[in-house]
Amino acid sequence: MITKIVKIENVKEQKEALHEAGEILRSGGLVAFPTETVYGLGANGLDAEACAGIYAAKGRPSDNPLILHVANRSMVEQIAAVIPPLAEKLMAAFCPGPITLIMQRRSIVPDRITGGLSTVGIRMPENDVARALIQAAGVPIAAPSANISGRPSPTSAELTARDLDGRIPLILDGGPCHFGVESTIVDCTGEKAVILRPVRLRGRC
Ligand code: AMP
Ligand code: MG
Repeated sequence: MITKIVKIENVKEQKEALHEAGEILRSGGLVAFPTETVYGLGANGLDAEACAGIYAAKGRPSDNPLILHVANRSMVEQIAAVIPPLAEKLMAAFCPGPITLIMQRRSIVPDRITGGLSTVGIRMPENDVARALIQAAGVPIAAPSANISGRPSPTSAELTARDLDGRIPLILDGGPCHFGVESTIVDCTGEKAVILRPVRLRGRC
């Protein structure tokens, strides 16, 4: 497979390229894209077959759950069974941004992406290209880091291509990632917030 790398410098002026990327995702294909943390390897998060492609391309163990990336609140409501008050507070303070919130999932979220868990990890990235891509796809995008399993998470399109060239049809190049480290993961399903993966938060509260 030939991997196309498309530079996205302005999401408003490059609607056509983003539309094409959204079309690949809607039809079950994979697209690598920038976020503020690391580059993600995306698939339609509501399509179990498409998500199986992520595990295959990365060589990722299939019991390791995927995070769903959303562009707005209505997408959160589409996949979370309930949004606990704790999650509301964290969303108000830190979303969009480098934080992933674990909530109970709706049945629309395929078992295969959560490793059979009743919960789902949800993130609203701040990166313009990521948001425009999710909007163009019109569905939540499942995306782990865009590397072969066991290798470092890529923070540029070049590093992404080093691992995934020939394995996926498209890499969107949005330049280097600002943060360069994975999102902080917070479990919001209990009485208290539990930090499952601490990294760093950039709060605005
Ligand atoms: P990444 O490899 O950066 O995509 O991070 C995915 C990680 O998020 C997984 O390895 C899990 O540790 C965590 N994760 C995703 N979904 C869940 C979930 N529903 N419950 C707990 N942890 C989750
Ligand atoms: Mg990873």
